[in-house]
Amino acid sequence: MDVKMSKSPRRSQEEDDAAEEEKRKTHWRRNLRRSELVLIAIFVSLPAFVFLFGGFGGITATVDIPRPDQPDMALPKGKKEVILSTTPALNLDKLLGGLLPPNLDEQSCQSRYKSYQYRQKSPFTLSPYLTKRLRRYEAYHKKCGPGTRLYKKAMKQLLSGQNVENSQCQYVIWFPCNGLGNRMLTLASTFLYALLTNRVLLAYLGKESENLFCEPFPGSSWVLPSDFPYNQPYNLHLNTPESYVNMLKRGAFAYNSNASSLPAYIYLHLEQFSLRMQNNIFCEEDQKMLRKFNWMLLKSDSYFAPALFLMPSYQEELQKMFPEKESVFHHLGRYLYHPANQVWGRIERYYDAYLAQADEKIGLQIRIFREKPIKFEVMYDQIIRCTNQVNFLPEIAHTEPMRNQSTNSKHKAILITSLYAGYYERIRGIYYDNPTLNGEIVSVYQPSHEEEQQTEAQNHNEKALAEIYLLSFCDKMAISAWSTFGYVAHSFAGIKPWILLRPDWNKEVAEVPCIRSKTVEPCLHSPPLLECRGKDTNAANLVPYVRHCEDVDFGIKLYDS
Ligand code: GDP
Repeated sequence: MDVKMSKSPRRSQEEDDAAEEEKRKTHWRRNLRRSELVLIAIFVSLPAFVFLFGGFGGITATVDIPRPDQPDMALPKGKKEVILSTTPALNLDKLLGGLLPPNLDEQSCQSRYKSYQYRQKSPFTLSPYLTKRLRRYEAYHKKCGPGTRLYKKAMKQLLSGQNVENSQCQYVIWFPCNGLGNRMLTLASTFLYALLTNRVLLAYLGKESENLFCEPFPGSSWVLPSDFPYNQPYNLHLNTPESYVNMLKRGAFAYNSNASSLPAYIYLHLEQFSLRMQNNIFCEEDQKMLRKFNWMLLKSDSYFAPALFLMPSYQEELQKMFPEKESVFHHLGRYLYHPANQVWGRIERYYDAYLAQADEKIGLQIRIFREKPIKFEVMYDQIIRCTNQVNFLPEIAHTEPMRNQSTNSKHKAILITSLYAGYYERIRGIYYDNPTLNGEIVSVYQPSHEEEQQTEAQNHNEKALAEIYLLSFCDKMAISAWSTFGYVAHSFAGIKPWILLRPDWNKEVAEVPCIRSKTVEPCLHSPPLLECRGKDTNAANLVPYVRHCEDVDFGIKLYDS
């Protein structure tokens, strides 16, 4: 975990020294021309910059800005060139349009300000309101986060065994379960919940995830301190006596109870059971009650963000933050998750070695679930049926064409991610044995094949994260139905993927091999029970932008159209 946060990042001396004199001169000349553009751009974008960064908690922009006499860091092949300017307003690309805070150290977390060079431009417009809320949240986190006077005060209250009224800081502590994709989706949902309910988010990361991500918030940590008294994820389940629903059921409090009469903390169980989430969570009275608790423990395996959009009291705020509903995980994921340097090293090395030269990068994620295994030949056949129907992979020719060396053939790279090597072997063999119809040169890659899920192993998780990231650098993607691993990758990329559908439970073969997702958003597999709402309890019938998913017909997700 990256916790080093120096305020003024500096380029290293070696990098400066390594630059050759000639490059320096060329660069200097180029920058002279740029400086004319920069002057115009400063003029045009100054009001936007003041709006985005001015006056939120005194945050100042201390991005490392090269001077005209400094050489650019070598631009990776296949990446967009970025003209760094002498004013932070022009570094908005690097800050994802203002999504990222500008004042974090670049060296200790290289991925944060570099990832955008590898990805397609976001298809979404960032709401200035979301930017404002994020900067406000960062200031709040810094004020109340671990180590602060207010955190110590809140801890005293927690240890006293009693809740209190009007606390300056409230907290939500996230506990993980399941694999990395699930964890990334639920942690982002919890962060959204923290934004909506004005809570500080702290995460129990566990040994297996300790060094995966950089710290997302400037000047503070999101890691739950190890001396937190209730840090046993295994004690948190459906039957935990301190769970909100269990306490409500046994009358430990009532909706009109005073905050000061409540226990010191509440546990919110958001893990699915029988593919549903508990009743009495996404209803107004319950949310009002939950807001009274200063400390909330929350454990989840689900992307519950869409369920928050069902709450009338959150809808106005959500509309302002996400005028484009499909952008929720895309923005929050790109804001929160920055692979730590060790993982980023893997990503960059792999990209530069295998993907950088390709004109088109095609991602193919194949996930076989233990509870519904699909035979290799059946899955392989489904991939081919899909590709024949929608032209996903480059088409094969059956006669050998005359190769014309002077033709500028397109190079397409197929990136496969899977726990198994078989699909890669087979698909690579196809393009070795056959020419392509349009003369494209096709290379096929797979970074790892771990054979089995090992969520408790740090190195295994690093590979998983690297592969999610590499997939997200692709131009188009096919993912496996039901897989949160695939959801994270395509949502990061801002792509509507092809989904390789799962066969019906009692069948071996999926009749329709794949379907195009209508949204960039991930699916919530386990919609909430909404009996507390009265009559219409189908979560997909309440608002027009929350509807069923293509791959999980009872699941729900966010749509714009
Ligand atoms: P889901 O189970 O498909 O929804 O995705 P999760 O990410 O929650 O859990 C699956 C876990 O299995 C991942 O986090 C990885 O640990 C592992 N895994 C599954 N597919 C792959 C893959 O293609 N590459 C790697 N490296 N790991 C994978």
